[in-house]
Formats: sequence, C-alpha cells, structure tokens
Amino acid sequence: MAKISINIATGSLQQEEIIVGIDLGTTNSLVAIIHPETKQAVALKEHDSSSLVPSVVHFGASGEVTVGEAARQFLVTEPENTIFSAKRLMGRSYADVQANQAFFSYSIIDDDSDTLVKVKAGDRFYSPVELSAYILKELKHRAEHIVKTAVNKAVITVPAYFNDAQRQATRDAGKLAGLDVLRIVNEPTAASLAYGIGLDKNDHKTIAVYDLGGGTFDISILRINSGIVDVCATNGDTYLGGDDFDRAIVRHWMEEHGIAEASLKTDRELSQRLRLQAEAAKRILSTDDVFAAVSGGYALCLSRVQFDALVRPLVQRTIDCCGRALADAGVDKAEIDSVVMVGGSTRVPLVNEMVSAFFGRPLNNSLNPDEVVALGAAIQADILAGNNKDFLLLDITPLSLGVETMGGLMDVLIPRNSRIPTKAGRQYTTQKDGQSGMVIGVFQGERDMVKDNRRLASFTLTGIPAMPAGLPKVDISFLINADGILSVTARELRSGVEQSIEVKPQYGLTDAEVEQMLQDSITHAKEDIATRALVEVRTEGEQLLQTTEQFILKNGSLLTAAEINDTAAAMQALQLALTMTDKDLIHRKIEALNECSRPYAERVMDTAISMAMKGSKV
Ligand code: ADP
Ligand code: MG
Repeated sequence: MAKISINIATGSLQQEEIIVGIDLGTTNSLVAIIHPETKQAVALKEHDSSSLVPSVVHFGASGEVTVGEAARQFLVTEPENTIFSAKRLMGRSYADVQANQAFFSYSIIDDDSDTLVKVKAGDRFYSPVELSAYILKELKHRAEHIVKTAVNKAVITVPAYFNDAQRQATRDAGKLAGLDVLRIVNEPTAASLAYGIGLDKNDHKTIAVYDLGGGTFDISILRINSGIVDVCATNGDTYLGGDDFDRAIVRHWMEEHGIAEASLKTDRELSQRLRLQAEAAKRILSTDDVFAAVSGGYALCLSRVQFDALVRPLVQRTIDCCGRALADAGVDKAEIDSVVMVGGSTRVPLVNEMVSAFFGRPLNNSLNPDEVVALGAAIQADILAGNNKDFLLLDITPLSLGVETMGGLMDVLIPRNSRIPTKAGRQYTTQKDGQSGMVIGVFQGERDMVKDNRRLASFTLTGIPAMPAGLPKVDISFLINADGILSVTARELRSGVEQSIEVKPQYGLTDAEVEQMLQDSITHAKEDIATRALVEVRTEGEQLLQTTEQFILKNGSLLTAAEINDTAAAMQALQLALTMTDKDLIHRKIEALNECSRPYAERVMDTAISMAMKGSKV
C-alpha cells in the first residue's frame, strides 16, 4: 500500500514514504536510510562533515536550545546548562542513578523518591524524554534537509538490556520529536543485521556483539533462528568506554609534566586542552605509531606502545565481561559463529587484538563501527516498509495495547508493531488501604491519556484480601494468540485470586481509523507528554503530602516548633501549587518541602536506629 505524501520543502509529490533508522547513542547519535538507488544502507551526513551528532543539549540564558557539535562547546564553559549522556537517565528513577551522581556535571533532581529523574537547567525542569526528543528532532531536521523530504517514521535502537520503562521512554521521545516510532530494536541485533546476519531465513547462528562506545561497554550473545533473534545474555560496564582511555592519557601526561590534580580543577582551559589532545592522540594512534603535539606550553607525546600499556587493563575488563556473558548464556567460545564489532572505541588496534585473541577467530569489523547500529536500523526500517520482499513480515499489532493506571494514564503492555503471537505482563498494586477490588481497563491506541484511546474492555478483579495500600501484587498479563485474539488476565499473587477476559483488539477498526489514531498521537504528542508529566508530578506531590503528614503525626514530639511551622508552610505552598497546572512550580514546592524535612527526618531516623540498637541484645 503505497502512500503519497507531499514534500513541504519542494512542494512535490512523493510516492514512497521514507523510514529512517536512528542510533540514539549515549555519546553520539546518527540517522541512516536505505539509499533509493543503490539499495544500500547509508549514514546521512552533510557534505564531508561527520555523520555523528554528539548527544549533547545546551540551554541558553534566553531559552534557546542547541544540539550536537555546537552544544558540545559549552560542556566546559557552561557545564550546569549543558546536558550530556541523557540516555543514561532514560526511564530511570533517582534511586537508580544516585550512586553515579558525581558523573553528571548538571543537576539531577533528588527528591528521595522512586519517581522518574528530572534534570534542572536554568530554572526549568526537563525529563530525559524531553532531552532525547531534542536530539531526535535535530536528527529529523538533518535528515529532512539532506533527503529533501518530510521524515515522519523511524526505527530507533536501544541497548539490549533496556527494560520496559526505558524502551517506553525512548518511544515517547520519538513521539515528542514528531516521529512515529515503528519499532524499537536492540542495538546488537541492528549491528548484526548490518552485516547481513539473520537476513537469511535459514540462518541458525550464535553471535557475539562487542560494543565499546564513549562511556559504556556492552557485550551481547545473540541466537538467531529463522529470522527470530533471542538475546541469550548481556554483560558489560555502564561506566567504561573511550572516555576512560582519554583520561588515562591525561593522567600519563600530568605525571610526566608534574601537573597537579588541583591545578586542573582551577584551570578549566588547561584541563579541556589536555582532554582534547588526549582524544586526538588516541585517534591518531589507531592508525599511526606515534603522536606528538605542543599545547599550552607542554610537549605532549605518546607512542602506540605507551598507549597500549595505559589502556590494556581497561580492555582486559571488557574481556572479563565477555567471559561472564558466555558463561551466563551457557555458550562455549567455539560455538560463536561471528563476533561483530561496534562503537567508535573498537577502532583501537589493541581492542581488536585482544577481542580476536579471546574468541580465537577473526572479527566482523569491516563496516564503520560508529555507523553500524544506525545502518542496521535502516535495514530493519526497510523490512517494515515492506520494501525488502525477501523478508517475510509476520503479523503485527497495528496499535499499542495497555491498561489504565493512576490519573488516567495509559500504560502500554504491548507496543504497536509487535509481532504476534506475543505476550507481556507487569505488576500493579492497590492505592487504598484494604482495597478489595481493582478495575482493569484495557485500551488500544497511542495517546498518553486513556480517555483519548479506544476502550476495548474492562473488568474487576474482586476478592483481594484486605491489605495496606501498595502491598497486594496484581499481575496483569496480555496474551495475543496467532489469530489476533487478546486475552487479559489479572491475578493477585499473594491470594491467588484471578479473573480474565478475551477481546478482539482490531475488531471494528478500519485501516483509515488506525491511520487516524496514529496521526492523532503525533499531532498531540506535545500536549500528551506535558499532561503525563503534570499527572506524574501531581501524584508525586500528593504522595509526599501524605507521607509528610503521617511522619509528623507519628514523630511530632521529636521536632521543634520552628520545624513544625516551616513544614506546615511548605506543605501549604505545595497544596496550593497542586491546584495549578504549572509542573515546574509543583517541582519546586516538592523540592522545598523535601529540603525542609530532610534534616529532621535524618535525625529522627538516627534516633530510631539507635533506640533499636539499644533494645536489641548483642
Ligand atoms: P556511543 O555508542 O556511546 O554513543 P560511539 O560509538 O559513538 O559512542 O563512540 C564514541 C567513542 O569512540 C569516543 O570515546 C571516541 O573518542 C571514540 N573514537 C572515535 N573514533 C576513534 C578512533 N579513531 N580511535 C579511537 N577511538 C575513537
Ligand atoms: Mg553506540
């Protein structure tokens, strides 16, 4: 079914819609397409510039947003307003990233809760979804500029270990950038596809994908059977990459020239200069035997032999991860059919040497390692577009399926374009103490609020035994069989009570209606995501008010009058903010209330602990 679209830039009609492949990386991102003439996957770039767009977003004082190479310049001069590595925060709660906060030079909102992380720049709060959307928008514009057509559809890659929330966040970012995300594909799967592995329906292979980027290392063991890819094991280190190679070189030069750690802290320019020279040295040493430069009055030299000695322990750590991944997958080295090399840092000769020695075989490293993931995503996009006729596209779900959660939000269990048969499940809990029934609303559609989607069914799980809120564990599972029939089952795990229902998800929807629902999701993406953010921050605010109130009721006697007064004022301010629709204001009031209660909360905890210690017999 060919669709005709109008090229806004040129006013011409265009027969085939273009679907791009996007590698949304921690350090760099890029777009690739299947070239209409050569039918080969190519990374898009302007003239002879790089295809890579640094995954960096800068927020200027007057609200202007810069992305990519231009934003990277601000990493040194304005670290507090320049956001890098937003991918690390996708779908993460503060508790998830707390241990690594020192890594980020910008401010991550610490509200001591399980809610999703936000980043502060200027006096605005940004979710990782918004930050990634800025990068995706830049990639979309860039692609439109190069191919001179509107780009509205994409396949986006994510690490194989990304969980549901992280994948959903990536989908949301695409939507917010005005992209219809046809599929989220695992990075190692895309990389294998770029090498043509898995394209043949008769392929039965076991693959190792070694991905060493700027700040992360991933090793994945994949099993490919008749076009279906199973991730058998993943391992790696989320804080190990090419940036560590740069730091090792900087440390070497500092020792050599007697530059003290402290002087780098005060002299930002020198620190930046050394870092840039270190990266330049690393790149040169990928092909040459020596590097020499004079910078800031220092003669900076490094030989390949010295460099190898510096980074060998780091590379050894990646090799150890490979061993663990193989063990987890229960796969012997000898069973690996191909080793695919991905990521800019695999250009380092020592990396190739050590990986090849470990697996005892030659490597797949002929493609550009920075681009290979995006190239694979473009190939996947082409298959979804139906252009690759050799590849059988199994039945897929045309719209997402999910349930209603707190505040009327849609929680997607099976994303659109999932291959059927398929199943998915997630755990939910009760909101009220002693709640005995739970209404499960099943919806179909792409909007964030269930009221904008299509209700397929709803039923009530009854007979949940009385328990405090949050304690029952209700497992909701969706199963779509090969005939497209969806069965939804809800089961309370502690008591075993269960209820289920069957629906035909597509029933009654024409192709045109499906198309319209997809279109709406893009048109309303901005307001949808804003509404979702507001609902989330309100829920958070209400919960905080409740817990604070309970805390004061219980421990009021341990607080000073001033503390109680300040807390009451902060609570009142939050209460007032909750009646309004400004999410940043609510955030600020949440922060203020946390700020106010933190000191005495810690004190009371300490008292409680020391009392418990006294009471216990040793
Ligand atoms: P990510 O997947 O994390 O976004 P990339 O795959 O783009 O990252 O890898 C970026 C890293 O690759 C950087 O640390 C960069 O310095 C490194 N890199 C790029 N080119 C080379 C090269 N020629 N030699 C060594 N390292 C390189
Ligand atoms: Mg990458």
